[in-house]
Amino acid sequence: MTREDLAETLEEIALLLELKGENPFKIRAYRTGAETVRQYSGDIVSRAKEGDLKGIKGIGDALQQKLHELASTGKLEYYEKLKSDFPDSLFELFKIQGLGPKKVKAVYESLGVDSIAKLKEACESGKLAELSGFGKKTAEKILEAIEFREQNADRFRLGDVEVPVRQILDSLKGHPDCLRVEAAGSYRRAKETVHDIDFLVATGNPEDVIESFVSEPWVDKVIAKGATKASIYLDNGLQCDLRAVKNEEFACALAYFTGSKEHNVVMRGRANERGYTLNEYRLALKDGSKAEEPPVFETEQQLYEFLELDFVPPELRENTGEVEAAESGDLPRLIELENLRGTFHNHTVASDGQNTLREMADAAIDLGLQYLGIADHSKSSFQANGLDEKRLREQIQEIADLNAEFAENGDKFRIFAGNEVDILKDGTLDFDDDLLEELDYVVASVHNAMTLSEADMTERIIKAVSHPSVTMLGHLTGRLLLRREPYAVDVPAIIEACAETETVIELNCNPWRLDMDWRWWKYAVEKGVKCSINPDAHKTEHLDFLAVGARVARKGWLTRGDVINTMALGEMENFLGVKAIS
Ligand SMILES: [Zn+2]
Ligand SMILES: [Zn+2]
Repeated sequence: MTREDLAETLEEIALLLELKGENPFKIRAYRTGAETVRQYSGDIVSRAKEGDLKGIKGIGDALQQKLHELASTGKLEYYEKLKSDFPDSLFELFKIQGLGPKKVKAVYESLGVDSIAKLKEACESGKLAELSGFGKKTAEKILEAIEFREQNADRFRLGDVEVPVRQILDSLKGHPDCLRVEAAGSYRRAKETVHDIDFLVATGNPEDVIESFVSEPWVDKVIAKGATKASIYLDNGLQCDLRAVKNEEFACALAYFTGSKEHNVVMRGRANERGYTLNEYRLALKDGSKAEEPPVFETEQQLYEFLELDFVPPELRENTGEVEAAESGDLPRLIELENLRGTFHNHTVASDGQNTLREMADAAIDLGLQYLGIADHSKSSFQANGLDEKRLREQIQEIADLNAEFAENGDKFRIFAGNEVDILKDGTLDFDDDLLEELDYVVASVHNAMTLSEADMTERIIKAVSHPSVTMLGHLTGRLLLRREPYAVDVPAIIEACAETETVIELNCNPWRLDMDWRWWKYAVEKGVKCSINPDAHKTEHLDFLAVGARVARKGWLTRGDVINTMALGEMENFLGVKAIS
């Protein structure tokens, strides 16, 4: 039981009481209780477990008892009983934006709507719009919300699945009967969001491997378990599928389960032209084919070679020109994480980060980086504690002092003094030119007024990148994956403006963003635009986002030469036009 589990249960009780038409004061007590649990500054879970909640404002006697029962037994009878009066599917309705408890109650009672499927039907048939308090506009909004949810349901951000995937891979690798193991599918292709994770193992003992896969502590539920495959849910709802194949099938299976579908279609076509069929386990002779008996492939590489292609890195397998390039030997040599020498766009406690300058620098040194660009928020981002002129100048001095210390100690490491300067609504920047010139580099980003028309937003950003002090453009579209759509903006026009003004475009590799999107990098490179892979770190651990960043950069066909933060420190000082520290 976590604090959030306790709070959520109280909140759900409030919803259930509302559905039952209970007394509003009672309902409010549960809501207040949930809020109090969330905000209490001490260890509320232990206190609840020990039944020691007396005297906490916002948690009355009745709630104290219930929290104690919940925290100490993991269950609450009162809540289970309330729930049993309604169908399970009803609870999905609360997750639809724009549909509060009152509206859920109304559709449930007057239309018998108790699931998202039925709600959708009621929207489409026009019945919902006729209901008093709803109307056509509301029905349309609800339908939109259902569709957004359907599109994103059960999807996860790439950067958020990294940890559980590593954990499962490590555990499978540790199994004595596992010869080879990979996570395939869209995860291996580094898609920005994934639906599930496909694990593939080569083994002579599938029963044992599958048994161990389904009995790990992180398994929440076993969906299916067979002789050679199994599916599970993790605690966070992520579905993981495991497929066991024979060692000699592994290469073809890996190619098959990595996809994409479109890429596989082309691969099968090439096999066909040569007299073979390619399926998820092997390459076989086509009926009546006069071709030679096909070999067994040990690696994907050999399969590609056999089909007269250079090996296509998994990130590129989207059928967007990679097969043609592999045929003509024109595949780019993609960037690797190890190529990164430093990174830009990182926050500290001076704005909304959680670590000090020194802590951030130490973490970067630990990662083997030669430089770290700091870019705290500017004054207009007051909600993020943005720096005003005075505080920014103090930070510039603090950075100079730290750099002097590094130099004295003989560390080959430097902090670059920058700022994530807000692009104001009219395209001007949040600081005057004098101060901008004092900085080693400038990231310009949009953080407000995101509902401008496409034309206005495009003009605004082009104006900002045309400012001579702007080194790079931060998170180009402002999207938050699975949360917020990109704002309206003409991406190719921005790319062209950045090419003309020699402005770098950031690949913001915070898992929420991965912005600019990988689909645009080929075009940007064609135009001569450079990339900077930036974690937008708000604490030291966030520097690890660089690993996801490198994978997404590969997906965008980027090479070492396309990415500025592969430069060594000296080169970077030249590039930014700042003096070396002696
Ligand atoms: Zn930002
Ligand atoms: Zn930022």
